[in-house]
Amino acid sequence: MKYIGAHVSAAGGVENAPVNAHKIGADAFALFTKNQKQWSASPLTADNIRLFKDNCLKYNILPENVLPHDSYLINLGHPEAEGLEKSRNAFLHEMQRCEQLGLKLLNFHPGSHLKKTDEESCLETIAESINIALANTRGVTAVIENTAGQGTNLGFTFEQLQYIIDCVADKERVGVCIDTCHMFAAGYDIRTESTFEETWDIFDQIVGFDYLKAMHINDSKKELGSRVDRHESLGKGFIGIDNFRYLMSDPRFNNIPLILETPNPDIWKEEIELLRSFM
Ligand SMILES: [Zn+2]
Ligand SMILES: [Zn+2]
Repeated sequence: MKYIGAHVSAAGGVENAPVNAHKIGADAFALFTKNQKQWSASPLTADNIRLFKDNCLKYNILPENVLPHDSYLINLGHPEAEGLEKSRNAFLHEMQRCEQLGLKLLNFHPGSHLKKTDEESCLETIAESINIALANTRGVTAVIENTAGQGTNLGFTFEQLQYIIDCVADKERVGVCIDTCHMFAAGYDIRTESTFEETWDIFDQIVGFDYLKAMHINDSKKELGSRVDRHESLGKGFIGIDNFRYLMSDPRFNNIPLILETPNPDIWKEEIELLRSFM
């Protein structure tokens, strides 16, 4: 079974996200459980939590197909003590919000070295940040997203993702979310049947499909290997529509949330229908 949705708005309260997902015909969705541009947030109320769960149930969206995304301010690989502590605290709060909502996953960008430390020690810092969050929560899996490798962002190669996982103590509660735009921008070709197969074989050898917990389904405004993160609507970018056809007919992508982060919310409903037509 394929579960498809988009990163929907939670404006007015987290309980509105499943309603917005239902409106576009989704049976999966992503959301920010707090304002993604601010460090602090008021706690979720008992009403927020109850209504969120009720609405997911009402619209037939399983908790395992909801993929919350953490704040963009968080850098779990921060090379400086103060920034790292702030990030770790904020990340723990995000994990706790997921726990409160009965959710199973938290998606985040691994972190950036800011040219102040080397890649390896940054990856180790990220893993340690994950270890701390996992030790202080239950039931929520830390889902590391691959990046486009823009600026000093790490996690743009399968080897880097694997290295982080390797350093995480609880292998049961760590996984990855692969963003098709990011993988393409990072230099992984997926445009033809043969490059698609080749790239995912490499993924399987280095990271392993057991760790694949979610996908972000985006076309790319920038060329292969550009290392620039600019999402495009399906079929309108440099990846092209064939990749999404292969993905939807491949059982290795069953039973995980497949989330659109394409730039035009007005056509999400059609994009979801298009993806379903490829199944
Ligand atoms: Zn993404
Ligand atoms: Zn992106």
